[in-house]
Amino acid sequence: MRQHSATRQLGGLAIRLLCCGALIAPTALRAQQGKPPEVLVMATGGTIASTGNYYGDRGGEVNKVSAEQLTAAAPGIDKVATLSTEQFSNVASGAIGPKQWMDLARRINAAFHDRPSLAGVVVTHGTDTMEETAYFLDLTVSGDRPVVVTGAMRPADAIGADGPANLFNAVRAAAAPASRGRGAMVLMDDRLFAAREVTKTNTTRVETFQAPEHGPLAIVDHDTIYYNRARPTRHPAFDLSNVTALPRVDIIYSYGGADSVLIDAAVAAGAKGIVVAGVGAGGLASGQGAALRRAGEHGVVVVIGSRTGSGRVAGSETRPTAGDLNVQKARVLLMLALTRTQDRAGVAKIFAEYSGAEP
Ligand code: ASP
Repeated sequence: MRQHSATRQLGGLAIRLLCCGALIAPTALRAQQGKPPEVLVMATGGTIASTGNYYGDRGGEVNKVSAEQLTAAAPGIDKVATLSTEQFSNVASGAIGPKQWMDLARRINAAFHDRPSLAGVVVTHGTDTMEETAYFLDLTVSGDRPVVVTGAMRPADAIGADGPANLFNAVRAAAAPASRGRGAMVLMDDRLFAAREVTKTNTTRVETFQAPEHGPLAIVDHDTIYYNRARPTRHPAFDLSNVTALPRVDIIYSYGGADSVLIDAAVAAGAKGIVVAGVGAGGLASGQGAALRRAGEHGVVVVIGSRTGSGRVAGSETRPTAGDLNVQKARVLLMLALTRTQDRAGVAKIFAEYSGAEP
């Protein structure tokens, strides 16, 4: 039942766009003609691809479910989209970092380039660092076709496993014309979030993904994907073609009594940037100020964020701040910003544009 109404919905969306005189994507036309839109599922691992006792012995059993097995576990998914799958990796998300982000972004850009008929890409991913990968893809995948990142809080063989429904809905979202021009998104628990806004807020609950102060971009119901916000203004994607490795950027936490030791260690380890998880609206422990100034004198670009979990840190033309990005996302943006400029004011400008720090 559900897959039929989902397919009808795609047709309905295309028809509504036609009535409004809007440009119809070739994929939407094909949906009207009966062939569902093409979606590539790129699997990286995580709990969605794991089996075993959730709270007990899953250590020996993790990461055994392949991309094909994942799609086969979501009945009707083939009616929503014409699927292809790719096994990018099969690891927990703690094993995914800057190198994998770049490889993934390159792979997705290549897939969009080589396949003009591809409507969108779904990335399955462990939830722990999903928001970082999603934000990196948001900043580096060009064009207006959607990338939808999803995963599961419960393993594939758990009672009430959430992976199949998340994957099914992520494929619906990637196939939907209404998803175009929105960058990378995270789909979890029947809701779509903007990659730049979403964060994991709870260790175990299926509703763990939230976007503090923003809320979801769309509600994913059985019969429709209901976007409740206009498309955002998109900034040009960061170009990775000449980037061989991203610069080291560390995150330093601020807390009562914090001192200079970790800041000096980051500089000694070769950090080109430091993001500070400041107290409140970007305050510092009094023992950290001098070390951060020293880091700046060494050419390390310091970006001040907040450890509070929501709200803005206001910046200026010479003082880059995270805006309302959380510190792990400010780190992603700083790594990419440093591939364009090492100048503090230049980084401040990029942060003002991308992070919401701009007054
Ligand atoms: N440890 C897992 C991971 O991030 C957690 C998950 O997928 O939910 O890979």
